[in-house]
Amino acid sequence: MTAVAYKSDIEDSFYVANLDRLYMMHLRWVTNLPRVRPFFAVKCNNTPAVLKMLRALGTGFDCASKNEIKLILSLGGTPDDIIYAHTIKPLSHIKYAYAHGINRMTFDNEEELVKISLNHPNVKLVLRISVDDSKSMLRLNTKFGASLESVGKLLKRAKELGVDVIGVSFHVGSGCTDSAAFKQAIADARYAFDIGSLMGFQMNLLDIGGGFSGSDSFKVTFEEFSEVINAALNDFFPPESGVRVIAEPGRYYAESVFTLAVNVIAKKVMTDGEENSTKRKMIYYINEGLHSSMNFIVSDPCASKVNPYPHKPVGRSEQRYMTALWGPTCDGQDKLKDTYHLPELHIGDWLLIDNIGAYSITLSSDFNGFERADVYSAVTAETYILKLLHAKLR
Ligand code: PLP
Repeated sequence: MTAVAYKSDIEDSFYVANLDRLYMMHLRWVTNLPRVRPFFAVKCNNTPAVLKMLRALGTGFDCASKNEIKLILSLGGTPDDIIYAHTIKPLSHIKYAYAHGINRMTFDNEEELVKISLNHPNVKLVLRISVDDSKSMLRLNTKFGASLESVGKLLKRAKELGVDVIGVSFHVGSGCTDSAAFKQAIADARYAFDIGSLMGFQMNLLDIGGGFSGSDSFKVTFEEFSEVINAALNDFFPPESGVRVIAEPGRYYAESVFTLAVNVIAKKVMTDGEENSTKRKMIYYINEGLHSSMNFIVSDPCASKVNPYPHKPVGRSEQRYMTALWGPTCDGQDKLKDTYHLPELHIGDWLLIDNIGAYSITLSSDFNGFERADVYSAVTAETYILKLLHAKLR
């Protein structure tokens, strides 16, 4: 994608969100997983234009806190469009959910169950079970999820407290590399469902979480995952079971939609004594780094590689130099990488970075007073009209 700064004195970094790509990812989802309604994980990317587009297309939202719920409600989302899918909830957030009619939420332990039962009389709980995440790049099931052995005890406690449990959720871990993980997790969820049904709960919701890559070059395609998931759903939760199936995809939707434009704000040339040597090493300081849009480099093992490329066309024969890219802050660790091969750049030049929509904006801080990058969304007329049509049909 080509992003163009329209004023020569513009130097602030900015994102371009390609909403056509978002639409395409949604079509791919509904084509491959027609039984599964996606509830986009707002933690992954909270850009209003993205959320509005997804809402128009009919997705729901996985919210992890009061502020995420507030955001979705402010964009016209209804409580039916929301699952509060964080098992750890501050009391005030539970109260906020109750006050705003957000009834569906997940839990995985007895203390939270008691806390919720005392503060949310209308709650419809979804039991998050822990599943095998050993084939995922970012594991979640040490911190979250009830063991299968504890399901009976937890559901018994829910009965004693008079709390309604309506289903089961899981997350196979982010950046899942093995579709069999979904098959086993769906079988585990069936086991928990059966215990719940035996105890007299009306179990009717299965939430298969997130974990799908958004990158075209990931080793397992979304289509391969879908095939295994559809087969497992047919085996364990066939359509005639009446169970509603949802998911909480984050990076699947957001990753490839965003391109970041960063500006070279400073430069050093390491000459080794020879002024014009082709062995010169270049150091560029850009206005995004580990404390802003690229925090995921340290915190997210599933992120796509950061491969910046010059915004201006570069001839094949143009000399490339060994290049280090550093972030703008005072932190001596704030470096992207020092083994890039790039043509010579000058202060004010732009670099573009694709596939940067997942856990970038939401993890970035304003450390040192550097402002967060703005987002400009781009959409073709065709997609915009389709979006309006979808919104009308809802
Ligand atoms: N749901 C929950 C509860 C999560 O913790 C996460 C990510 O951490 C997601 C959904 C989104 O996962 P992903 O981006 O892998 O699809």
